[in-house]
Amino acid sequence: MSDDNSHAVRRSQFFLPTTKETPSDAQIASHRLMLRAGMVRQSSAGIYSWLPLGFRVLRKIEKIVREEQNLAGAQELLMPTIQSADLWRASGRYEDYGKEMLRISDRHDREMLYGPTNEELITEIFAGTLRSYRDVPKTLYHIQWKFRDEVRPRFGVMRGREFYMKDAYSFDLTSELGRVSYNKMFIAYLRTFARMGINAIPMRADTGPIGGELSHEFIILADTGESEIFCDQDLIDMDVMASEVDYAVDLQPIVDKWTGLYAATDEMHDEKKFEANVPEGKRVCARGIEVGHIFFFGTKYSEKLGAKVNLQNGDERAVQMGSYGIGVSRLVGGIIEASHDEEGIIWPESVAPFRVGIINLRQGDNACDQSCNDLFIKLAEQGVEVIYDDRSERAGGKFADMELTGIPYQVIIGPKGVEKGVLEFKNRKTGEREEFSSDALFSRLGIN
Ligand code: ATP
Ligand code: MG
Repeated sequence: MSDDNSHAVRRSQFFLPTTKETPSDAQIASHRLMLRAGMVRQSSAGIYSWLPLGFRVLRKIEKIVREEQNLAGAQELLMPTIQSADLWRASGRYEDYGKEMLRISDRHDREMLYGPTNEELITEIFAGTLRSYRDVPKTLYHIQWKFRDEVRPRFGVMRGREFYMKDAYSFDLTSELGRVSYNKMFIAYLRTFARMGINAIPMRADTGPIGGELSHEFIILADTGESEIFCDQDLIDMDVMASEVDYAVDLQPIVDKWTGLYAATDEMHDEKKFEANVPEGKRVCARGIEVGHIFFFGTKYSEKLGAKVNLQNGDERAVQMGSYGIGVSRLVGGIIEASHDEEGIIWPESVAPFRVGIINLRQGDNACDQSCNDLFIKLAEQGVEVIYDDRSERAGGKFADMELTGIPYQVIIGPKGVEKGVLEFKNRKTGEREEFSSDALFSRLGIN
């Protein structure tokens, strides 16, 4: 829903360059489908423009991420994409980061870089503004473009060079309290991915260049995933949204329920442990896509960059920090990998670019045009996100495009139905078709 008219579009006017041809350079389904559905267009290696359809999905995902971050008590800010090299020298990561970092210099020959992540910058903001034990806990986040000059950008937006990431950072007085902040994000992540209709399994992970002692990756299962994973089937079946979350209570028991079951990527996999902890029938070896990664790393950055608070007794203490990433743009591809068929994308309703697609089978026929138009206007007024295919095209082409772009509900209107006073309603996911009067259709869609 929105207060302008962008939620309701006529296909004849909407910028949606779909194609039948399979792009030759796209190796995996999501990349092929995103190109064919006119969602993105590559501008150079690993760098994409988001066309209207793709941009709508990106915004939907971003909105869910934002709502769940806010619910967990994180506060949104916005840091720049360009950072100073000196800040990274102070943390010691300027040299370590190597060729993945895009280094730039300005007209005064000052060294700058396009941020691959923001631990340094947020720590510097904290250090320059907060002083007292009363200023913590705080969890701050932003949703901003990042750049990593990946050796092999591939799979479209899944491994881009420029990509959109939510990154949050927690600041606490003690490591026990830091763990509390970590647990909140852990639960927020489970909820975030569940709301997008995907199953992201938390796995014990290596902390890599970010450093620290505690870390989990959130991985969705997909055959084309880059990570090999090992887990307990019970984790896949666990229901995240079963109960409302209360972030004020001790979340450790809930986190333990998830981390108590075996799950690991190949880097952390221990075959003996796997066999000892997981009954044979429940051992899952599969491939997966990393969509989120959380870390608790204590005082690694706060010590070096002076993010310290004064205690009641006058002593000074470096704050305990964690960082929490979600690959917002990668998720667009990841969700498609997890949800598509031969014909195209199958969007989970919560992230679909439009909820309803109207197909006019006989454009130019007065009765059909009017019936479609009435429905379109009514849905638009009700705030339903709707795309009306009003082009003078063959029905076959309209069907193919609607399947390709993955709109959850199709309403198909042709001369026969109009005569009988019924609309054909098709569920993209199940393939189920029903005939409804327009009133019955509205109640099926939950509107009056
Ligand atoms: P990967 O192992 O896939 O290279 P990473 O561990 O380097 O990712 P993090 O630093 O943990 O990535 O970044 C947080 C999240 O940002 C990742 O979980 C992933 O979803 C996303 N991400 C990282 N690199 C890329 C990329 N090149 N393109 C798109 N999304 C990315
Ligand atoms: Mg990672």
